Amino acid sequence: MSGGNFNVLLVEDDQELMRLVSGWLETAGYSVACAVDGQQAIAAIHESCPHIVVTDWQMPHVDGADLCRWIRAQQLPHHVYTILMNRRTSPDDVVEALETGADDFLRKPINKNKLLARVQSGVRLVELERRLNRISGSDSLTGLSTRRTFFELADRQWRQKIPMSCVMMDVDFFKRINDMLGHKVGDATLRAIASVLREACRCNDLVGRYGGEEFCILLPEQTEVEAIKWAEGVRTQIATRSDLIEGTALRVTASFGVAQRMEGTESLEQFVDLADQAMLVAKRSGRDRVVGFQAMTAATTVPVQGSGPAAAFRGLSAKQVMTTIVAPLSQEDTVGSAARYFLQFRFQSAPVVDETRHLVGLLSERDVMSIMLGPKWWNTKIKDVMKQNVVSYDEDAPVLLIYEFLSRAMIRGVVIVKDGQPTGLINRTSLLRWITNRLRTPANEPTVDQIGGPSQTCASGDEMQMTVRAIEEVASELNRQFESEQNDRLPLIIGSVSRIEELLNDLLSCSRGAAQPPISATSDPSGLKDLGTGFATSQAHAEWLLSIDC
Ligand code: GH3
Ligand code: MG
Ligand code: MG
Ligand code: MG
Repeated sequence: MSGGNFNVLLVEDDQELMRLVSGWLETAGYSVACAVDGQQAIAAIHESCPHIVVTDWQMPHVDGADLCRWIRAQQLPHHVYTILMNRRTSPDDVVEALETGADDFLRKPINKNKLLARVQSGVRLVELERRLNRISGSDSLTGLSTRRTFFELADRQWRQKIPMSCVMMDVDFFKRINDMLGHKVGDATLRAIASVLREACRCNDLVGRYGGEEFCILLPEQTEVEAIKWAEGVRTQIATRSDLIEGTALRVTASFGVAQRMEGTESLEQFVDLADQAMLVAKRSGRDRVVGFQAMTAATTVPVQGSGPAAAFRGLSAKQVMTTIVAPLSQEDTVGSAARYFLQFRFQSAPVVDETRHLVGLLSERDVMSIMLGPKWWNTKIKDVMKQNVVSYDEDAPVLLIYEFLSRAMIRGVVIVKDGQPTGLINRTSLLRWITNRLRTPANEPTVDQIGGPSQTCASGDEMQMTVRAIEEVASELNRQFESEQNDRLPLIIGSVSRIEELLNDLLSCSRGAAQPPISATSDPSGLKDLGTGFATSQAHAEWLLSIDC
C-alpha cells in the first residue's frame, strides 16, 4: 500500500508513541507532520491543510475532541478525515467521539495494522471527494468551475461562434495576504472574491478559478467595451469593500484584462490568452485596473513615423524619461518635514514609502496646504494625509503607455517603480516638454534619423550662445524694470526668474548633449541634477537617446 500524495497530521503528547506511529505511517508512504497538542495542530492546519488527522484524545491545552470540533467548524479547502485515539472504549465514549465530528475511533494501545487500515479507509474518502469534485467540475475552495470544467463549458459556447468577451482577473499582491495574515485568511479572501464574481455574473456567463488567485470569466454576447464596463464594476466593488479580508478592514484589489472574440481569433485558448496579455499589462502598469486588449494594442500601434508622440516615444521606457527621485518621503515623517522638503526642492508632489522603502502613497503640496488650517498640522504624520491611490508603472513600461494614460486620466503624474520601490516621476508637464522639444526642429533641418550624434542635435555652439544671450536679455530687462518701476516688483521677479530657469534648463540640456560621450540606456543619470528641484534630471540624457533612437 502506498500513501503517496496524502498528508497525515499526527497529534500526540506521548513522544514515544508519536515516534512509533509516525514511523509506521512514513514507512507506508504518507507524508507525516507532527504536533504535541491541539493548539499546535491548529497552527499546523492553518499552515498547510492535511488530508488526514490522527489525534490522541487526552492532551494538554486543546484536547483531541476539541480539535475535531474545531476542524468541523472550519471551511477548509477539502474534507479532513479525522481519527480519534483513546484508551476508554465504552459505547458512550465511541458515541461521544463520533459526535465531536471525528470520522473514526481507534482504541489504545494502538495496533499497527489496525491503524494503517483505518488511515487507508480515510484515504478512500479523500479520493472519493476528489473524484466527486472532478465530476461536478467545481473547485472545492470557491465552488466555482475548475479550470478544466471552465474550458469544457466555454468550448461549447465557442463552437457556436457567438460573439463574446473574456475577462481574466488576478488578485493583487495576494502573497502578502497569506504572508501577513496566514493561509486561512487567504482562503477566506479567495472565497469572498469568488462570491463577488458569482453575484456579478448573469446566468449564461461562465466563471472559473483559473489558477491559485486567478479567475477567468466568459461573457457571451458582450463586446470588449461592455465587458470592460462589467470588469470595472467588479474592480470597484472589490477595491471598495472592507469585508473581503476576514478579521480586518484591509482592502484587496485585483487587475483585469479583457478581450473580445475577433475575426482572427483562432482558438478558445488564444482568446483567453489575449485577455491574459491585457491582464499582464494591467499588472505592469500599476495594478487595480482594467485593460482592454484592443484599447491596449490601439494605443501601441499608432503609426511611428512623423513627429507625433508615438514617434517621439518609440522604444523608450519610463526609466529613460522619468525624473529620478533623490529621496522619497517616509510615511512616518511629519507634514512639517514634508513642507520643508517641498520648499527646498520646489517639487509639487513626492512619493511616500514605508519602512521597507516600498511605495505606499503620494503627497502633494496641495495635500499639505489643505491641512494647514487645522490644529497641529505641523506634527501630523504624512501617512494620515497622503493619497494612497497612486498610479505607478514599472521602469520598463513603454513611455507611450504612460503618455496615453496621462492624456486620458484626471491625475497629473505617475510614479515609476522598480520592484515596488519608487525611482522616478513622470508628469504631464515633463511629457509635454519632451514633445515640444521634439517638434521644435524646423522642417528644413535634418531629422533625427538623418543625423549622427548628440553634438549635432541641439548642442550647436550657436544655439548655446543664443540661449546665454537670451538669459542676459531677461536679466537686463528685469534690471531696467527695477530702475523704472517702484511698486509691485513681485510679478516681475516671478516672470523673469521662471523664464531664466527655463533657459538655464535648456542650456544644461544642450551642453550635456554636446559634452557627453554616448551614454548607455542603463547608465545612471544621477549626476545630472535639475537646478530647480534638486532631483536628477534624466531629460537631457533621454533627449540624447531619442536623437539616436528615432
Ligand atoms: P501580483 O500582484 O503580481 O499578482 O502578486 P501576487 O502576490 O498576487 O502574485 P504571486 O503569483 O507572487 O502569488 C500568488 C500567491 O497566491 C502565491 C500562493 O501562495 C497564493 N495562493 C495560490 N492559491 C492559493 C490558495 O488556494 N489559498 C491561499 N491562501 N493562497 C493561495
Ligand atoms: Mg495523551
Ligand atoms: Mg497570479
Ligand atoms: Mg496575484
